[in-house]
Amino acid sequence: MQLDLHKIIEVPGGKVSFTCEPDLADLDFDGIEGFYEPLKAVGQVMNRAGVLVLTAELTAGLDCVCARCLKRFRKAYSLSTEAVLSAEEPENEDTDMYLLEGDCIDTDEVILTAFVLSLDQRQLCSEDCKGLCSRCGKNLNDGPCACKAESDPRLAVLGQLLEE
Ligand SMILES: [Zn+2]
Ligand SMILES: [Zn+2]
Repeated sequence: MQLDLHKIIEVPGGKVSFTCEPDLADLDFDGIEGFYEPLKAVGQVMNRAGVLVLTAELTAGLDCVCARCLKRFRKAYSLSTEAVLSAEEPENEDTDMYLLEGDCIDTDEVILTAFVLSLDQRQLCSEDCKGLCSRCGKNLNDGPCACKAESDPRLAVLGQLLEE
C-alpha cells in the first residue's frame, strides 16, 4: 500500500496513521505452512524534528511445523518495529532506511521486511523439544523409545574398539 506523506513531510510533529495487510501468498517461510490469522500492521509515520519515523505493531497467527519433531502447532506472532524513512539514498549503506517514492512510502515493503527479519531460523514446538528418534522415528517428547536402552551398550563397545 502506498501511504501519502505529503501533509507531514514539512511539518514537524505531524502524523499519518495507517493499517496494512501485506500479501504473503507468494512467499515461503521455513517451518511455516500458513497463517491462521493474516499478517497485519497498525502504525503511524511521524515527523520527528524533520525525520520521518514509521512505527508499527505487527500481529499474525502462524501455522508452524516443528523442525525437530515435525509436530504442527500454532504460534501467535507479534512485533513492535520502527524504521526511518528518507527522500534520499543514505550515504552510509549500513543505515536501515526506506526510500520514499515521491511523497509516498510502500508500507507493505517496510512491514514485510520487518516480519521476515524477525522470524526465527527454524520453528520449534518448544525450546526443549526432544525431537524424533533417528532410528525408530518415535516422538521422544512422549517418552523414551526402546532403541536407546539397546544401543547404549553396543555403542560403548564400538567406542572402545575405535579407541584401540
Ligand atoms: Zn517439537
Ligand atoms: Zn528409537
